[in-house]
Amino acid sequence: MELSVNQEQFLESCKEARKLALSFGNPLVVHHYDADGVSSGAIAVGAMRDAGKKVRSLSLSKLDDSAIELLSKEKEVIFTDLGGGNKRVNELADVLIIDHHETSGIDKLQINPMLFGIDGSDELSSSGAAYCVFRSRDELAIVGAVGDMQYPLRGMNRWVLEQSVQSGSVRVENELRFYGRYCRMLMHFLQYSDDPYIPMISYQEDRVKTLLSDLAIDLKKNDKWRTYSDLSPEEKTRLISAIAAILISKNMIKKAEQLIGESYIFPKRKKDETFEANEFSTLLNACGRHKKADVGLRVCLEDEGAFSEARLILAEHRKMIKEGIVFATGNVQDFGKFKFLDARNRIDESIIGTVIGMALVQTWKKPIIGFSSSDNNTVKVSSRTPRHLLEKGLDLGKLMRLACEEVGGIGGGHRIAAGATIPKDKINEFLLSVGSNLDG
Ligand code: C5P
Repeated sequence: MELSVNQEQFLESCKEARKLALSFGNPLVVHHYDADGVSSGAIAVGAMRDAGKKVRSLSLSKLDDSAIELLSKEKEVIFTDLGGGNKRVNELADVLIIDHHETSGIDKLQINPMLFGIDGSDELSSSGAAYCVFRSRDELAIVGAVGDMQYPLRGMNRWVLEQSVQSGSVRVENELRFYGRYCRMLMHFLQYSDDPYIPMISYQEDRVKTLLSDLAIDLKKNDKWRTYSDLSPEEKTRLISAIAAILISKNMIKKAEQLIGESYIFPKRKKDETFEANEFSTLLNACGRHKKADVGLRVCLEDEGAFSEARLILAEHRKMIKEGIVFATGNVQDFGKFKFLDARNRIDESIIGTVIGMALVQTWKKPIIGFSSSDNNTVKVSSRTPRHLLEKGLDLGKLMRLACEEVGGIGGGHRIAAGATIPKDKINEFLLSVGSNLDG
């Protein structure tokens, strides 16, 4: 792929960043706790290890003033997936920032696509930026981008993808786009797939069972639950044709065309939850959200014992999400311009975003906002939108920032997924602001 002048300049500045990082003796890598944060942190930690440095890492959910105080004693810090949003990083000693969020007023060396006119919300993740700096562990750049919902990969992400395909770390498969082809049992793979939403399949256990039996596709083989990836090519064709036929019969032709899409697999890794980008990013998210981002980071670096620890966290994560979905079903309210789930004291703040994301039905004509209780008399807000509203200009990150300005909270994020933390006594003002800033 031919790079634009901006992209070339971005890569040029990455060289300077790499030089700075390699000049550090014993740096602390401070990374965000979500999948992109953990993958970008792992790329930085791995590169430092490769260079023989005694590197340490710290995961944060946000870079607030108390985190800055904590870091004030550090001599050398590499930030990944955060750092560009808090001007107080200027007070720290030697700092390199690798970020992709909105930024201003930072004096330290910062590698951020936004500074080069490259859209950090869907053309390059922090993991992609970290790869551009360190030029190693390219598959993690893909995991981070997918984890940050930058699918389909375009712009600079596409260039990173090309590099990783050339190096043999990544293979692109054109396959059924549902989540969990490699590790989810076939029944759940179909039943919980809702992007696109398939009438008579999504959330309909009995119908899925009937469909598979009509298609003579066994759920188990040799007493073991099968996954989609275990199916023979003929079985896959039968299944895809049947799903497409359902969509066509419902006049959902466009959706039928979207059934197959690109997915990214990592042939050098084992066929477990780290084999495919979406499943890998879910594993990392689970670790991060359960305050075990370090385990995720060690999985990225293939450290011994880390994967089995991560799987236990994933199992707990799934259990909590399942309970969250049960609560969400029946408790989502329609507030006119948006849907609302008040899950305070019901769903943990670490998973509210994931739960509303799963409760979100792609055919809805409105976004969903969820509340969860947080500490210090605050409420954690998460928001998600059906993808088609992005084309109409919806930007949830902006929506959260605007509403936060009015109520004294901290918020932001991406167009498709954003969040905030607001004072507990300002929830009504916050909701009113969201409503007034959303087009009807
Ligand atoms: O927490 P949740 O998953 O809902 O966050 C969605 C996105 O919004 C994440 O990318 C996160 O970094 C961003 N966010 C933010 N500021 C906040 C909360 C979330 O930028 N206060």
